[in-house]
Amino acid sequence: MIAETNKQSAKVVEPCKKIDGTTMLAMTSVVAVPCRRCNEVTELKVDFEGFTKWQQGELIQNALPELNADQRELLISGTCPTCWDKMFPPEEE
Ligand SMILES: [Zn+2]
Repeated sequence: MIAETNKQSAKVVEPCKKIDGTTMLAMTSVVAVPCRRCNEVTELKVDFEGFTKWQQGELIQNALPELNADQRELLISGTCPTCWDKMFPPEEE
């Protein structure tokens, strides 16, 4: 079991702002998540309310259902998709 999550490392860097002149959804924020293995910082756009709920203990699949598996893994384990693929190479048939 992965004991700890990456909650403390994930930081909201751009709460509710405009990007490229387009107004984002009011409650969408950019969260910077550092990878524990390669230290690469990946920025994710998340629902701010959902992100807050997750940090307060809500299950990530309930709090942030819009994230894909790679993005969830990054938040939960602090492992970016690149490192994840190195650890668990996709099996080819
Ligand atoms: Zn990495």
